[in-house]
Formats: sequence, structure tokens, C-alpha cells
Amino acid sequence: MNIHEYQAKSVLKQYGVAVPQGKVAFSVDEAVEAAKELGGKAVVKAQIHAGGRGKAGGVKLAKSLDEVSTYAKELLGKTLVTHQTGPHGKVVQRLLIEQLSNIQKEYYIGLVLDRATGRVVMMASEEGGTEIEEVAAKTPEKIFRETIDPAVGLLPFQARNLAFAIHIPAELVNKAVKFMTGLYNAFVGKDCSIAEINPLVVTADGDVIALDAKLNFDDNALYRHPDIQELRDITEEDPKEIEASKFGLSYIALDGNIGCMVNGAGLAMATMDTIKYYGGEPANFLDVGGGASEEKVTEAFKIILSDEKVKGILVNIFGGIMKCDVIANGVVNAAKQLGLAKPLVVRLEGTNVDLGKEILNKSGLNIVAADSLADAAQKMVALV
Ligand code: GDP
Ligand code: MN
Repeated sequence: MNIHEYQAKSVLKQYGVAVPQGKVAFSVDEAVEAAKELGGKAVVKAQIHAGGRGKAGGVKLAKSLDEVSTYAKELLGKTLVTHQTGPHGKVVQRLLIEQLSNIQKEYYIGLVLDRATGRVVMMASEEGGTEIEEVAAKTPEKIFRETIDPAVGLLPFQARNLAFAIHIPAELVNKAVKFMTGLYNAFVGKDCSIAEINPLVVTADGDVIALDAKLNFDDNALYRHPDIQELRDITEEDPKEIEASKFGLSYIALDGNIGCMVNGAGLAMATMDTIKYYGGEPANFLDVGGGASEEKVTEAFKIILSDEKVKGILVNIFGGIMKCDVIANGVVNAAKQLGLAKPLVVRLEGTNVDLGKEILNKSGLNIVAADSLADAAQKMVALV
């Protein structure tokens, strides 16, 4: 789960991480009120679940209350398109009104789980403010890493190593160490999957603060963080994904035009790979789960079809727990119920596969039966 920048900053503050003073605003009036408390000058920041706002005009420096009001009017309700939002952009519904910082230098600090070592890694770079992916691609030597032993946590010498490596001014290293320690404690304490501070800044007043903050949380650990669950903003999420989660379907929307309905996450990944291998583009990842019922199959079809980019659907089911004839009946009934007009390629394998294929053939629907995953992918790509 993702949260807004202002929420991430309030979580970090609980762990002693220094953040600028600021307040969320849902209206122009609230924005002006918040700026008054900051002495009239403020940064007006669009709150959306995506980065790259600065370059897209979503971060404005206001020197007076009039400017705060102008920028707030401009941003609220605006669709902001950044390199992270996709071409459709995201509508700004909240603003963060924050104290202006006198930036001396911008840095990068991030925490991720390194799957190779199974440990949390802290990354730091002097190249703050720019995309870390770009730094990693062009100047990888400018990213420093410390792997953290979960038994002892981030040790002070590791934080000092990073602070010196990225040239934090010597007199501010202790503040940087406190910052990094707090960030690590927040990451572990709240079961984060990503924590990214880009930029971390050193100010002219000698402060080390998080100018931006991004926290992602492990969905499987949310049950033990009701305070974090409350921060969910479903208006930022894909409505198709929310609908799918209601029916226990794992659905992720993608950019292609081939809808996929598969049982099992591994098989779903293999299906997407095979579609791409034959030159197609999947429109989604969808795992209907091991015991997919007829109802679930119907819901899955509805969700796939609600994406207008979809030109055809590839069904790839392994009948293990579920028998192929049951799946075939589900597919046929769902297709009839929804008046499916788009090409449908179905690949079934497993228990009662012959019976399943017979049901598909006799359905009278325009269903193309496939013998293997490769066959199914090639047929689908040809059809769309
Ligand atoms: P992002 O573009 O979505 O990652 O948004 P950020 O919160 O990182 O802001 C983008 C950029 O705006 C930062 O890298 C800063 O250069 C600038 N910025 C943000 N707040 C301030 C501020 O208080 N003072 C100044 N001078 N610049 C700021
Ligand atoms: Mn940023």
C-alpha cells in the first residue's frame, strides 16, 4: 500500500526523523490558513501517489498568501501528468502546505529489501533530487549501500559510513546518523517495503531534513498496523484493482490489449511472458486463484472487459484442484451472460481436460481452443 507524502512525513516524525513543518489542505481556504501559520510563505505541494511532481509543475514556492491562494487554485482539481503517473495522470485532491526550506544541498536516502541477501539495504547518494534509477544507470559509483543485520539493526558506524561517503558536512554527520536511524526504525516498525527520501536536504540553518518522503507498506503486514490502514486513499488506486480485491482476485492493470485470466500467480506470470515473447502486450495480470468458482470467473471477465483497451482475452487454466469441465462451464456461462463479443482463446490442461474442451466446442460461442500455452499466445496475438 502506498500513502501520500504528508502522511509519510507524519509517520517518520513519530520515529524522530526531521521533517519540515506543514499541514494538509483539501481546499484553497485551508491552504491559506495553513500558510498563515507558517508566516505567509510556503511550498504548495500536490499530493498524489506518484513522484516527479516537481518537473510536472506540482511543487510551487509561494512568497505570499496571495501566491499560496493562486497556486492552490491552480493545483486543486488539476490532472497532473508526471513520468510516474502514466499518460492519464492523477487528479490533485490534496495539497501539502509546508514551510519553505533554504536548501544548501540535496541528497538521496532509500531503504529497500534486497532479495538476494534477504536483508534491508540502506542506499545513499549525493545525487539527490534526480531519479535514483537514472543515477544507477549513469553513475552507479555514486550510490553507496549498507546491508543491515536484522538482529542488531542499523549500526551507528554504518550510518556514519554512508554520511561520509555522500559528503554530508562533518558537523552535520550526527544529525544525519539520527535521521538514518529513525528512518530505519520506521521502515521496520511499520513493515515498509520501500522508504525513499529524495531529496534529503541540508539547509543553510544546519538542519538535515526530509524534503520529500515516500513510504510503501507490505500489504500482508497491514493487519498489524491499523494506523497505517487508515491512511489508505482509494481514490488514488485503480478502480478495477479495488473491485477485483473484493472478489479475492489478484488483478494488476497493465498497458497492453490482451486480457489474461489465469489461475495461479506463477502461471499468470508465465502467460504474460509468453504473450510478450510472441509480440503481444498483456492488458493485465490476473490470478483467479486455485479454487476459481463460476462466479469468480464471471467477475474476472467483467473486470477484464471494463478495460476498454482489451481487444481479446486469453484464458489459461490448469485444472488441478478445480476440474477442467467446471472451468469450461464457468467460461461458457460467463461469456454468454456478458454477451462477449471479443475473441476468446482458451487453453485448458489438467483433470477432465477432454470433457472441458468438448464443453467449449459445443458452446456455440466464438471460442478458440488452444493446445498449449505457446499455441494460445500465438493465436491470441494473431487475433488482436
Ligand atoms: P517530486 O518531484 O514529486 O519528487 O517532489 P519533491 O518533494 O521531491 O520536490 C521536487 C523539488 O522541489 C525538490 O527536489 C526541490 O528542489 C524543490 N523543493 C521542494 N520543497 C522546496 C523548498 O522548501 N524550497 C526550495 N527551494 N525548493 C523546494
Ligand atoms: Mn522527490
